[in-house]
Amino acid sequence: MNSNNFNRRDDEGGILNHIGNQGFLPEGIEITDRYQALGIPYPDVETMCEGQCEGTGVVPVSAEDREEPWRSLWLAAEAKKPAGKNGTHYVMCPDCDGTGKKK
Ligand SMILES: [Zn+2]
Repeated sequence: MNSNNFNRRDDEGGILNHIGNQGFLPEGIEITDRYQALGIPYPDVETMCEGQCEGTGVVPVSAEDREEPWRSLWLAAEAKKPAGKNGTHYVMCPDCDGTGKKK
């Protein structure tokens, strides 16, 4: 993930931290990915769910998401407990039923 071995300078001489295939970030900005945010280990790509959950078993759905099945899942989650300020619900992944594993 984050590696300081690949730091380089941008055009103005600022240090950019290499963050894998996502490009570069200005120094001092850290990314917390969803695995870190959820406190779960990184999934094994051989066995992880091929759906939207990327091996976590849950999918973040925003209030603005109008695509199905995400809209329905969001509405169901909202009916149980209203989303917080950012309007996001973490819904159970419909591809793996929340296991995070390939079927
Ligand atoms: Zn899944």
